[in-house]
Amino acid sequence: MSLIFPRIACPSPNFDMRRGKAVNMLLLHYTGMQSASAALDRLCDAEAKVSAHYTVDEDGAVYVHVPEEERAWHAGKAYWAGETDINACSIGIEIVNPGHTFGYRSFPDVQVASVIALAQDIVARHAIPAHRVLAHSDVAPARKADPGELFPWAQLAEQGVGLWPAQGAPLKGDFAAGLARFGYSIGGDTDVGSSQAIVAFQRHFRPSKFDGVVDAECAAILAALLEAAAL
Ligand SMILES: [Zn+2]
Repeated sequence: MSLIFPRIACPSPNFDMRRGKAVNMLLLHYTGMQSASAALDRLCDAEAKVSAHYTVDEDGAVYVHVPEEERAWHAGKAYWAGETDINACSIGIEIVNPGHTFGYRSFPDVQVASVIALAQDIVARHAIPAHRVLAHSDVAPARKADPGELFPWAQLAEQGVGLWPAQGAPLKGDFAAGLARFGYSIGGDTDVGSSQAIVAFQRHFRPSKFDGVVDAECAAILAALLEAAAL
């Protein structure tokens, strides 16, 4: 069964040009505010200077803020695989959830189904590689935890959106070096400590335990990701 989710125009003035960069990343967020309407107001408030291309509400409705060809302002100071202008190369989806500050909770099935349908369409149209479907916390581990450990990444990957680790060969070399090869900011031109990147990695790919401590399971997962992404 394929569900059709309503699309609602909710234009934001907060965008500029992509500066010649092609879209090659999909970045997922939670709104982290007390209500959907508070989040939508802020994303459309010229004073706030933040936006995303879309917001997906808990009932699955999709609010459309910024045309995909424009550069929405959702990533902030961020880094992935050598790129620091994440807004210029990504499409941003906000997912309504109060977040860790206001009562983090599970994402309803209908909301997840809507995110999946929207994301499938975006990754297909822009040919976004699975390993570049990322969390805000992946590209800004020192500042951000969204969409967080309750977000069902495995379910998305089953539907062709993003990577979920399978069995891989043993990790070759140092864990931090592997994280950097995958794309995390470590020892680069940013001020992210490796433990923050490890927590972000765990929150996304091993959400049962995100303590910033590398163990054998983490090493196996990272090896599988690197193999799947051919990095
Ligand atoms: Zn975010």
